[in-house]
Amino acid sequence: MKCRQCGTEIADKAFICFRCGTAVVEAVHKPAELAKAKRPTMVYVAVGAIVLMAVALLLVQFW
Ligand SMILES: [Zn+2]
Repeated sequence: MKCRQCGTEIADKAFICFRCGTAVVEAVHKPAELAKAKRPTMVYVAVGAIVLMAVALLLVQFW
């Protein structure tokens, strides 16, 4: 198989090109990781808390 970046002939089982370092296989685990990342509840809670804190600080400053 050939590297799609630099065209170097590399082993079929190679994950990255030994010449330019480009990943030559598609990330097959990506969909699973994306699905796992689709539960950002904690992130929303954290962002909401930060926004609330910022609003509270602003209110205190303008009081
Ligand atoms: Zn390459």
